[in-house]
Amino acid sequence: MTTHDARRLPARHPEDVEHLDGAARGELRLPFCRTCGRPFWPAGPVCPRDFSTDVAWLTDPGRGTVTSWVRFHKRYYDGDAVPYVVVQVTLDSGPRLTTSWTGADDPRAGEVVMVSFRHLGRGAYLPEFGPADRH
Ligand SMILES: [Zn+2]
Repeated sequence: MTTHDARRLPARHPEDVEHLDGAARGELRLPFCRTCGRPFWPAGPVCPRDFSTDVAWLTDPGRGTVTSWVRFHKRYYDGDAVPYVVVQVTLDSGPRLTTSWTGADDPRAGEVVMVSFRHLGRGAYLPEFGPADRH
């Protein structure tokens, strides 16, 4: 678990509060559509599939696979440790997240991953993913 500069704390936009508060509890909270019954991401007031506004939240198990990844060698913010890896994870439930990588080795496309939660400071957490066999 890494702590970052306070200026990098996520903004608490109304559509993200449930997700951020869930992360602080160790839960991956995602919006889901009550009309088609499927979770989606990013969060918003409308289902991207059928435009239903009948949206609620669920706790996702946080298991998925690596779809793609990239290693950044440039420091964009003070306090960032470089290089660092960002992955795209397709959750077993469907949504695709762009997120931080916790693995010691490079991710592999198709690798099974599990969520964990990174403390950013001042009670703020974000989900991140790493190899499922280490959880
Ligand atoms: Zn829907």
